Amino acid sequence: MATHKETKCPEGSKSKHSINGTGEHQAQWGRAWKVDWISLSAVIFLLLFAPLIVYYFIMSCDQYNCSLAAPAIEIFTGKTHLLDIWNKTPSLTWKAASLYISWVTFQAILYMLPDFVHKIIPHYRGGLQEGTVTPAGVTLNYEVNGLQAWLITAALWFANAYYFRWFSPTIIFDNWIPLLWCANILGYAVSIFVFVKAYLFPTNAEDCKFTGNFFYDFMMGIEFNPRLGKWFDFKLFFNGRPGIVAWTIINHSFQAKHKELYGHVTDSMCLINVLQAIYVIDYFWNEAWYLKTIDICHDHFGWYLGWGDCVWLPYTYTLQALYLVYHPVQPSRTTAAAILLLGLVGYYFFRMTNHQKDIFRRTDGNCKIWGAKPKYVECSYMSADGTKHYSKLLTSGFWGVARHFNYTGDLMGSLAYCMCCGSDHILPYFYIIYMTILLVHRCIRDEHRCSSKYGKDWKRYCEVVPYRLFPGIF
Ligand code: NDP
Repeated sequence: MATHKETKCPEGSKSKHSINGTGEHQAQWGRAWKVDWISLSAVIFLLLFAPLIVYYFIMSCDQYNCSLAAPAIEIFTGKTHLLDIWNKTPSLTWKAASLYISWVTFQAILYMLPDFVHKIIPHYRGGLQEGTVTPAGVTLNYEVNGLQAWLITAALWFANAYYFRWFSPTIIFDNWIPLLWCANILGYAVSIFVFVKAYLFPTNAEDCKFTGNFFYDFMMGIEFNPRLGKWFDFKLFFNGRPGIVAWTIINHSFQAKHKELYGHVTDSMCLINVLQAIYVIDYFWNEAWYLKTIDICHDHFGWYLGWGDCVWLPYTYTLQALYLVYHPVQPSRTTAAAILLLGLVGYYFFRMTNHQKDIFRRTDGNCKIWGAKPKYVECSYMSADGTKHYSKLLTSGFWGVARHFNYTGDLMGSLAYCMCCGSDHILPYFYIIYMTILLVHRCIRDEHRCSSKYGKDWKRYCEVVPYRLFPGIF
């Protein structure tokens, strides 16, 4: 287990100041205590428009062959009325509702099962895992069984698709908009539930943050790690399942529809299925490691994660495969090979960068990075109880190339997904635009936190590794 001296999710629960009386920097965690008007405007914008954006994308595929401009042009020129579009939109059906309820229930059951996969597959870190030390000092334990859940779900899905045929594998595509309403109902229900729960029966009252602003608290969350009972952790469940387990299944359903319509599966559809499946399997293989990422360690659970995991993730991350159902793209062998190479190299950078930090922190620097002893910057910070902690920031390997080279790899992979769809429409490129905004914002958010935490040591680190994502550029 970890020998690293610091706790990854730092203390400092009640600290609003980054520098204490002795000049030492205190650890910061989570979202803000106070809300400024820029954050509030962004929150209100997202609450209002994110659900509309998802609806617009899916509707434009359903009614306008994935053209984002066509519905807007028709509305502005008076050719179509908003109500016409709405009337043509499939509504919630009992079939979709029963499908969705069965899906979420099935995932919840799988989530509650003990993990057996770590007993069979060597080097897989599943089963009972220690997660974050919360700001209030509570150590959370998790039953990590995401890979098992994905394997069981995928085995059943593919057994049905290629052998049993209890139902058509196009079932998800055929009910895509009715399922959108179900996902929204769950997304809003879970967000409202955790909001009320934070006031009435929080899992850990000391880990709650209230700003007093309803919109901000609802969106960014109040509770840090809301749980039902000892094991049902909202963040881990909604972050990974049902959304990420669903990702590969949804893509395959779109592929099945593609085959039904055109009689064959294009290379681009295969590419998107393969590249995104690698990303999903990687997520579950490394689920224990994800317990140490910003999502789990620093974000509170509100609408941003609750609705985002139920609706945004399954509906926007699968846009490329959806697009290919409407526009089959057959790239040349060279183009397909170039996209595959970009996707795989991006994935390699992403995985290796994350792996280097993981091994460096777990061994407290007693490891080899690129065959040599790691180079690092020693740093320190104070926790709220006045204890001084020591930490290390790796400056060799991929962490010497840029301060967030894992994001760079992620962006290269994201671009490869989009390129599978050719260049006729902007819709499939939404993913790379979104990921760029998300990860650049994350860089800034994370660096602000690290700078407050490590103070002058962070400055020294930035002097050694001056660029964030792309050496020489940013
Ligand atoms: P990181 O895994 O990069 O974690 C950042 C933290 O690592 C910092 O807060 C700091 O924490 C520590 N750190 C920073 N620099 C160093 C260093 N040089 N040496 C050692 N530790 C360092 O970020 P995320 O949690 O955001 O991302 C994890 C992965 O998830 C990324 O690969 C990202 O691309 C991916 N991701 C994917 C998303 C998607 O939707 N597809 C969304 C979000 C993330 P400390 O306080 O411990 O020092």
